Formats: sequence, structure tokens, C-alpha cells
Amino acid sequence: MKKAFLVKKGDIEIRDVDKPTLQKDDDVILKLVRASVCGSDLWFYRGIDSSSSDNSGHECIGIVEETGSVITTVKKGDFVIAPFTHGCGHCAACRAGFDGNCQSYQDIWSSDCQAEYVRYQHAQWALVKVPGQPEDYSDGMLASLQTLSDVMPTGYHAARTANVQQGDTVAVIGDGAVGLCAVIAVKLRGAKQIILLSHHEDRAQLGREFGATDIVEERGDDAVKKVMALTHGDGVDAALECVGARQPMEQALQMVRPGATIGRVGVPHDEQFDLGVSWANNTSIAGGTAAVTTYDKGVLLKAVLDGEINPGKVFTKSYKFDDVAQAYADMDQRKTIKSLLTF
Ligand SMILES: [Zn+2]
Ligand SMILES: [Zn+2]
Repeated sequence: MKKAFLVKKGDIEIRDVDKPTLQKDDDVILKLVRASVCGSDLWFYRGIDSSSSDNSGHECIGIVEETGSVITTVKKGDFVIAPFTHGCGHCAACRAGFDGNCQSYQDIWSSDCQAEYVRYQHAQWALVKVPGQPEDYSDGMLASLQTLSDVMPTGYHAARTANVQQGDTVAVIGDGAVGLCAVIAVKLRGAKQIILLSHHEDRAQLGREFGATDIVEERGDDAVKKVMALTHGDGVDAALECVGARQPMEQALQMVRPGATIGRVGVPHDEQFDLGVSWANNTSIAGGTAAVTTYDKGVLLKAVLDGEINPGKVFTKSYKFDDVAQAYADMDQRKTIKSLLTF
């Protein structure tokens, strides 16, 4: 089968490798229908994180090809979302709705998902069954289902951990696919005013379509001033940090009203910030790895299937799997918000 490898910084290539096989009782082998490139893949591609060349991609949907001996929840031929988090569904973390921190297993994140087949570990509870077969769905719906393997639940996690409530005023920092999905999540949870910090017109436009009521184009302290002005000096009820860098976190700390919560989902890079500011303002800082299976089974799959949300629009370009190198390059150069891979 074909599998993508990050050979070196900025260089992705497809190699022929053996098809994965069942290694453990709770493994499932999936034949992929869609995969995608994640913002976090770009950290490796750009050489910012040290790369592991056999670890490309963690987002996919597919068809069950083979099941381990203890798997009873899915069978060969089922169409499934493969969350990048592999929870057990019964430990304390999973029961509390934090399956991205499952306490039962060591290897709880997906890897090797930019390939024709993938070995999905700890599949019994984690996989999310989709009704019917891929042929029953439009390309747009398949794109939305693909977001349920990571970015949409990750955006939802920002909103949930920031405790976004009906009627809230919320700032979303970051206009990548996760930030845009966070806008969808914030709207789904009933926020009244949704302020998206965005420096790119195409992303801002999609943000508006997803429910953003205000766009802040300014950077740094000017962005904070603009958010304060838009909230009549109050500050926001919740801020969602969807980048994973120092400046957005500092902005979040400065734009929240006293007693507000910040939900962080950007993978931290250079995460130092002044906790004194949060004490002075009674700010709660929450967030971390998303609970993908929890949200998909809870609200998100239904919202997608009902057409209530359409997160697949973050894929502004689609590529045949053979063109995976172009999919990375275009996303790196911001020619697409997020790259979808088809097989
Ligand atoms: Zn991802
Ligand atoms: Zn668990």
C-alpha cells in the first residue's frame, strides 16, 4: 500500500510499504476514505518540531477491513470516523468526558493516517460508526465527517473547556481550521457575540459564514484594544486560544472579563505566560487535548448529519492521495485553509 513519509523538512514522499496487520486484540484495520493535513503536521513539515518520518497524519475516516478478537462494536464493512484520541470509555478521565487523556492506555493518539490503510489501536469504544456507506454521502458531507476525526471536536473542546454558555460574548484567537471550527462550536453552544481574530480575508469570510459576528484584523495589543471596544470595555466572557503560542495566550489573558475562562487547544509552543495576570483577574485557564469520541457521539455527528453545522468547508482544496506533497505545500503557503486527501 501507499503511505506518506516526511523525508526531511519540507519534503513529503509516498512509499510502498506492507499493509498494516492486527497486532493486538483491540486493533482494527481501516481502509481509508478520506485523510487530511493538520496544522500540527506543519510544525514537523516546517522543521519546528523534530520529525518522526513514520508518523505522518492522524486524521481519517474509513471502512473497517479487519477487527481484533475483542472488538464487538464494529464489523467488517462498517463506515467509521477514526478519532485521533483513542479512549477506553470507562476510566475516570473518559467518564468525565476527557477521552483525550484516557488513563487506560499508553498509546492514545493516532499516527500513520496519511496512508491507504491504518492500524487503529484501542478501537472498541473510540471508533465512531457512521450510518450507511461513503457512497450515501456527498463530497461536502464526507469532508464534514472527516473534520470529526480532529479539528471540529478540537474546536468544540476549546468552547467546552472555556465553559461557553448561551448568550455569552466570546473571542476566538486563531483563524486556522481549529479556530474556525471553534467559531462553529461557540455558535452551537448559543453564544451571542462571537469575535474572531483573523488576518486573512478568506478565513474571516468563512468565519462570518460559521457565525462570527465581528472580525478583528488588528495584531498584538491593538487586537486587545479592539476586543475591549467591541465589548464596551467589559472584556469577553470566554477566550479560545486556538494557536498554541505565547502572544495569543497573552492576548487572551488581557481581553477576558474578571472571572472568565480561557480554553486552550493550540498545541503549546513557547507557552510561558504570566500567571500573575490570571490571579489578578480571577481568570481560569483550561483546555488541552480534545475528547474527540465524547463530542462526536454526544453532539457533533448528529449536528453534521442533520446539516446543522458544515465544518467540512475548512477544506478549501482537495487532493488525490498521490498529490499529498502538494497538499502539504499549499497548506504551508496558505493557498488552502486545510488540505483534504481522497483515495
Ligand atoms: Zn489534527
Ligand atoms: Zn479511558
